[in-house]
Amino acid sequence: MKYTSTRNNTNEFTFEKVFIKGLSDEGGLFVPKDLKKFSDEDLKKFAKLDYNNLATEIIFQFSGSFITKEKLHQLIIKSYKKFREKNIVKIIDIEGIKLLELFHGPTLAFKDIAMQFIGNLYEYYLEKNNHKINIIVATSGDTGAAAIDAIKGKKNINIFVLHPQNKISSVQRKIMTTVDENNVFNIAVDGNFDDCQNIVKQMFSDLDFSKSINMSGVNSINWARIIAQSVYYFYTYFKLGKETISFSVPTGNFGDVFAGYLAKKMGLPIDKLIVATNDNDILHRAISKGDYISKEVKETFSPSMDIQLASNFERLIYYINDSDSQKTSEIMKKVKKNSYKIEKNNLDIIQKDFLSESCNEKETLDIIKKNYKENNIILDPHTAVGVGAAKKLSFNDCVVLSTAHPCKFPDATKKAINVHEKLPKELRHVLDKDENFQVLKNNTEDVKNFIKSKI
Ligand SMILES: *Cc1c(COP(=O)(O)O)cnc(C)c1O
Repeated sequence: MKYTSTRNNTNEFTFEKVFIKGLSDEGGLFVPKDLKKFSDEDLKKFAKLDYNNLATEIIFQFSGSFITKEKLHQLIIKSYKKFREKNIVKIIDIEGIKLLELFHGPTLAFKDIAMQFIGNLYEYYLEKNNHKINIIVATSGDTGAAAIDAIKGKKNINIFVLHPQNKISSVQRKIMTTVDENNVFNIAVDGNFDDCQNIVKQMFSDLDFSKSINMSGVNSINWARIIAQSVYYFYTYFKLGKETISFSVPTGNFGDVFAGYLAKKMGLPIDKLIVATNDNDILHRAISKGDYISKEVKETFSPSMDIQLASNFERLIYYINDSDSQKTSEIMKKVKKNSYKIEKNNLDIIQKDFLSESCNEKETLDIIKKNYKENNIILDPHTAVGVGAAKKLSFNDCVVLSTAHPCKFPDATKKAINVHEKLPKELRHVLDKDENFQVLKNNTEDVKNFIKSKI
């Protein structure tokens, strides 16, 4: 499969380039040139596969000559060995609504599913190519932890993680900052997540800098992450065995829900994708009214969704504009000036596939309370937003992606039900281990200098 950029589709890239670079030189995101649509025959065959074999089939469609199918299968098995669930993910029922639990990996959020795979993909790449790589990643809490666990201790690769200081939960922070490996560097930026993401973007577009350090990115714009996330949409569809399926997806950077859209474009009979947001509701305003205007980021109980401009939304903009990279570039200029209103015809196209809702703080806590009382289950606040959105839309027959283990967000669950779930025993040690991180100003030069001093 060949790839191109959302902002210049005369260019052509291999999977290897797309995976290692993350972002194209002119700032666009990578997308496939021609997307394969699976036939009914294919889907029938896939329905019988276990998670690892299904992942192999789907990801292999995208990886081209980069890796053989056998080797890919080995990497996938290795990636999911540490998961606490034999089938990687787990589907449970809470009165009609189904929860797709995606948090059984090493750092307790769905991000492990893509990140463990990516870590092994890097290792494979570096065995073939003899050089060093520096991964720089901005995190709203969970990406960083998942990336660190996936990269720690690997040869020829360093990882630098930028998190917004004091704006993630202490459990989230400790899972990252207690990792004691000399290829892991944590940076607390005096700003919010959008600031962290901006610094990373600026470092990428400074080609002198990014080339000089072989910079690579694992943020949710990385295509390899998206395809690894598409797998569980397929898996869930086959497990439930219904004709069509809808999903409610707690959304921040639009990566996870875009993976569902990709699955749909590849022929999976998905009816609707519900974009569920917290008080940072730009995507809800965009999808319901065309109003893609960002406001101040608000801190909420679901910090991994405290994002305004969602990077992966650019991919959707590209697709609804018939893969027109010129148009996409123009729109992204408007986005940058915070003046993009989605045109009516485009909004109609979006609404064929997507619904949206947002849950405020009180609604989020109420959902946690209600489900604890009635279903004896503790939802993490992100999952609660997904459940709440589906309920508000009266969309009962759907699968809500349960994106994090409730123990990662003790403040929210304590506030809602005065209980907090214990960490699984594999992770309890992070609570009293020494933390190690560098606090830096919200300033790209400072971050660059820190990185240069460490490599
Ligand atoms: C990252 C994250 C999200 C949002 O996912 P996106 O791909 O950024 O939309 C939701 N819930 C949790 C727990 C997360 O860590």
